[in-house]
Amino acid sequence: MTSILQALSCADNYDPNSLHVERARELILGLLPPVTGVERVFVRQALDRVLAADVISPIDVPSHDNSAMDGWALRFADLATGAETRLKNIGTAFAGRAFEGKVGAGETVRIMTGAVLPDGVDTVVIQEVTRVDGDAVIIPPGQQREQNTRRAGEDLQAGKPAIPAGRKLRPAEIGIVASLGVGEVSVRRRVRVALFSTGDELCSIGEPLAEGSVYDSNRYTLWGMLTRLGCEVIDMGVVRDDPAALEAAFRDAASCADAIITSGGVSVGEADFIKQLMAQLGEVAFWKIAMKPGRPMAFGRIQPDGPDRPGAWLFGLPGNPVAVMVTFYQFVRPAILKLAGLDPLPSVPFFQARCTEAMKKSPGRTEYQRGILFRENDEWCVRPTGAQGSGVLRSMADADCFIVLEHERGKVGAGDTVTVQPMAAIV
Ligand code: AMP
Ligand code: MG
Repeated sequence: MTSILQALSCADNYDPNSLHVERARELILGLLPPVTGVERVFVRQALDRVLAADVISPIDVPSHDNSAMDGWALRFADLATGAETRLKNIGTAFAGRAFEGKVGAGETVRIMTGAVLPDGVDTVVIQEVTRVDGDAVIIPPGQQREQNTRRAGEDLQAGKPAIPAGRKLRPAEIGIVASLGVGEVSVRRRVRVALFSTGDELCSIGEPLAEGSVYDSNRYTLWGMLTRLGCEVIDMGVVRDDPAALEAAFRDAASCADAIITSGGVSVGEADFIKQLMAQLGEVAFWKIAMKPGRPMAFGRIQPDGPDRPGAWLFGLPGNPVAVMVTFYQFVRPAILKLAGLDPLPSVPFFQARCTEAMKKSPGRTEYQRGILFRENDEWCVRPTGAQGSGVLRSMADADCFIVLEHERGKVGAGDTVTVQPMAAIV
């Protein structure tokens, strides 16, 4: 593989000491190929997986011309223009039980939704506008040719791709697969992600909280975010700020995972040996991203022990709990989706809302404040969740959106318009 560091350093607008959010994301996405393994799974097991090969339709859907409504099936040519038409009722077509005969001139057949259109018929008139008079049916004027009919293959055509490779199989796609009578599909294998937290101050659940310690929450938020993305998560626990333990953890992780995510150990005040170790075990760039929270971040590859192992991508996230989540959603999430084979990558929706409180902001970095959306006077409004420190995890829990304050933007006044990203689309 060509050197990652070389590739990065040749890129335009590459300043590892002040990298724009968008540029960092582009650089990461440009380097990651999708995982190659494929699995055959039953249709229900395919929910939320990424399709590895086009699903080719073996049949037309619908497979016959049929009625879209309950009504009367008839020949449009029989209808008078501008006057009522009287047709003779000669039978009924049910869904799943076709009318076997042919509908001739001046005749009609009562038809149910989904019933196959009888021979000769091209139009359906809904029941509600017609009158029945003995064995005659009176059709009002003003009908359109082929109205209320569904044509064979109008949804999906035999031999054509019904769902393209790269698509995530949501309930709609699962339904399409079933509508084709297909029982199994090929999906990409799940992305395997190993994660560990670093820090001598970290306690695990079940241990008493020692003086000056904090419980390790990052492994839990990371586990949750990765699980929601459909990853296979390998939780390697807390690793002490100790070179030998860290080296062993990196080597283990690189031998079994596609990507490694660590938290802590990349900030300026941190023991430098973590950064040295990352660099020594692979090719790692240390980025100061022009963003808040989440400024320091490491990205690169950890090489494996043996030549038969591909190694793993490394995302060295900062330690602060909010910074972990923000950098995850901004960089790791799209990277994981790329590794997972999603194509195209989904865009993250955003819209403008009126911010009801003033916010401090300096130009020169992108900020992700946590906000709460609400409706007022027929417009979307947003207010920050309160304390916005990068250690205040509650600001994430209380929020339903990110307030994205763009790179060049300065402070926000109460009533100003801001960009919001609803969390429902990404979390
Ligand atoms: P660091 O990036 O290692 O300097 O950590 C920055 C801050 O995040 C410190 O206050 C750490 O105690 C805190 N922190 C680091 N890792 C975790 C973790 N896994 N869970 C909760 N807080 C953490
Ligand atoms: Mg630390």
